[in-house]
Amino acid sequence: MAQKVNIVSRSQWGAAAPRQKETLKGSAKRVVIHHTALPSCNGLKECTDRLVSIQRGHMNEKGFDDIGYNFLVGGDGTVYEGRGWGVVGAHVKGNNHDSLGIAFMGNFNNDTPSTEAISSVKQLLRSGVSQGFLQREFVLLGHRDLGSTECPGGKLYAALPQLRGT
Ligand SMILES: [Zn+2]
Repeated sequence: MAQKVNIVSRSQWGAAAPRQKETLKGSAKRVVIHHTALPSCNGLKECTDRLVSIQRGHMNEKGFDDIGYNFLVGGDGTVYEGRGWGVVGAHVKGNNHDSLGIAFMGNFNNDTPSTEAISSVKQLLRSGVSQGFLQREFVLLGHRDLGSTECPGGKLYAALPQLRGT
């Protein structure tokens, strides 16, 4: 049974329009998990403020066309639309064209991801598969598997098997 994930849309969090948008060719083969490496947030108000500032940083300082990730999740398990489904992200250099990037909001070098966030992302992935945005046999990776970075933090990296399970 496909559970419907509630996603806070771009317009709901006040996203700026992307400068450009590139469509993914076919369904994504890989999912790359990140952390924002910023303080965690809970609740719409706090997470929305954070999202606006992340998008601003990605577009103005990093020169991305939009917020880099496809989705983000708050500590309370609320999922926020970044670039969304079917869009090429800017989250892992050289690996953006067949993958989706999902960021846990917080710094998980020392903090443990909440069970709410883990369970929402699992639902999100399931819903991506059922809608055809994600291949059924997708590969789940942490950013550090593809580049020299500590992202998504040791504690979140250690929790990735929980996201793989069904
Ligand atoms: Zn990352």
